Amino acid sequence: MGNEIRVSYSWKYDYDWCPRRFKYKRVEKVEPDLPPPSYNLEGQALHRVFKGVYEAQNFTFDYAYSLLKPALVEVRKECGLDVEKEFSLSKVSVKTLENFITMVHKYNIDVPALLSEKEMVFVLTSPKSGNNYRITSVLDLAVVPKGEQSPIIVDFKTGSYIPTEYEIQENDQATIYYMATKVVLNLDVSRFVFMFPKKKKWIETRRTSVDYEKLIHALDVQVLKVKNKEFNPTYKNCQMCQYPEKCRKEDVPKLYPGIDSSWMICM
Ligand code: SF4
Repeated sequence: MGNEIRVSYSWKYDYDWCPRRFKYKRVEKVEPDLPPPSYNLEGQALHRVFKGVYEAQNFTFDYAYSLLKPALVEVRKECGLDVEKEFSLSKVSVKTLENFITMVHKYNIDVPALLSEKEMVFVLTSPKSGNNYRITSVLDLAVVPKGEQSPIIVDFKTGSYIPTEYEIQENDQATIYYMATKVVLNLDVSRFVFMFPKKKKWIETRRTSVDYEKLIHALDVQVLKVKNKEFNPTYKNCQMCQYPEKCRKEDVPKLYPGIDSSWMICM
């Protein structure tokens, strides 16, 4: 199909977070000022451990723990960080892992996965704009819990922020995964779960065709904004952004016209 627009949940999320950051990362593709924060690396490593646990079908803490350090070394290496340098596993990550194992047993998902860390790609056409969206998503886990008939989708969240009910309902990730399992796998999923092992939280949600329509409309709107170069910053979650210097350099001349910004940035 011609003229496909490649999108994903993170493509949508990046713009929602901050259009200026989206511009640096996805339009200009500039080098970030800062390396990824350590909690981000640990989050990536934990995802690999969760996958390893399902691959081995070994739902014990000891086994999961044995995978943690190698996973973190691997992630650090991929990010170009010094892997020779000694680093310790944070207590938070170890606790998160312990909670994960407890939850897997508690919610009866200590069974073989239907899918684990599976990339799914599908194409949707917007009835309004005619845009063809090639949507990529990576599903953390699809599994039929013990004693149930239908599969559920589980998305692992390694952060500590627990979203509000409204945020869960509006979350595009759940909508995209529901669509993907239906279109790509022809699976009728009974529910979608956000699992927050750090906080031992298990939050369920569902999606319908109304949510699918809303998502396609939101994609149409975002594509138009990107095309029109609407990249005004939101100044939201700046403490987690990897582009603080570039961003300040862009702001200072606007705030103090005519003044060389370089010395102000070092302050
Ligand atoms: S520092 Fe804040 S405003 Fe600037 S690009 Fe990053 S998130 Fe956006």
